[in-house]
Amino acid sequence: MHIERTAFDVHALSVGVPLQGIEYQQGTLAGYEVRQYLLEHWGRACAYCGASGVPLQVEHIRPRSRGGSDRVSNLTLACRPCNHAKGSLSVEAFLKGKPQLVAKILSRAKAPLRDAAAMNSTRWALWGSLKDLRVPVHSWSGGRTKYNRSRHGLTKTHSLDALAVGEVPDDMTIERFPAIVLLVSCTGRGTHARTRTDKHGFPRLKLPRIKRFFGYATGDLVTAAVLTGKNAGTHTGRVAVRSNGRFNIRTAHGLVQGVHRRHFRLLQRADGYGYARRAEESAAE
Ligand SMILES: [Zn+2]
Repeated sequence: MHIERTAFDVHALSVGVPLQGIEYQQGTLAGYEVRQYLLEHWGRACAYCGASGVPLQVEHIRPRSRGGSDRVSNLTLACRPCNHAKGSLSVEAFLKGKPQLVAKILSRAKAPLRDAAAMNSTRWALWGSLKDLRVPVHSWSGGRTKYNRSRHGLTKTHSLDALAVGEVPDDMTIERFPAIVLLVSCTGRGTHARTRTDKHGFPRLKLPRIKRFFGYATGDLVTAAVLTGKNAGTHTGRVAVRSNGRFNIRTAHGLVQGVHRRHFRLLQRADGYGYARRAEESAAE
């Protein structure tokens, strides 16, 4: 089992530093780790003007022309205008009249790499639970995922991101977007309560005592082939049963209502999960 546990790899950073020129490192795994580290460390915003949601460039706080190093402790992120305006100026000269901001940037740059800052508690808990499963579990960084994704020219989708976690060989072929993916969702097994209440807690509606009608129960995975009428077509999904024998079916594309029971075929009994196949949509960065 391979999971992406952290935004960046602290170990790779401490081994890979000092970097031999960040331009050279761009596009390498170490370059991606550095970039992910800087994004987390500097809050995904320009260190000089605070702009966020704009392209950020890796920037030397003390310029190399003034003896600044390529160590991550001398790197920050700047928007293009700030990076261009700063040029080979020292940070003190560039931010003249803003001594507080200069002090803030310099102290933040020196702040140690903090493992915990890169990892939220949910990921820790997930990691802990997986290790109890007694299967080999490997943990990787998000920087590596990004590196693999860009190296193979993959679109950013959830499934392709999952395939890009960990060690991906150069010659591995990955089916390109749009891929047909199996979506599994938690649906629950319904409720034991047989009475619905109004907002004051008084009984409003009595549900049937039995949960199965004509061999079907709400939550079963079914397929319905309807030849004529407004619901014509083949629908596959989760059924919601009605005592009158006309059921609703929730497919990957929406809700189909009032389909007669004679059209249905049972694929799988309800197990608390919903299953659907569909072309994956691209995910937000
Ligand atoms: Zn800026």
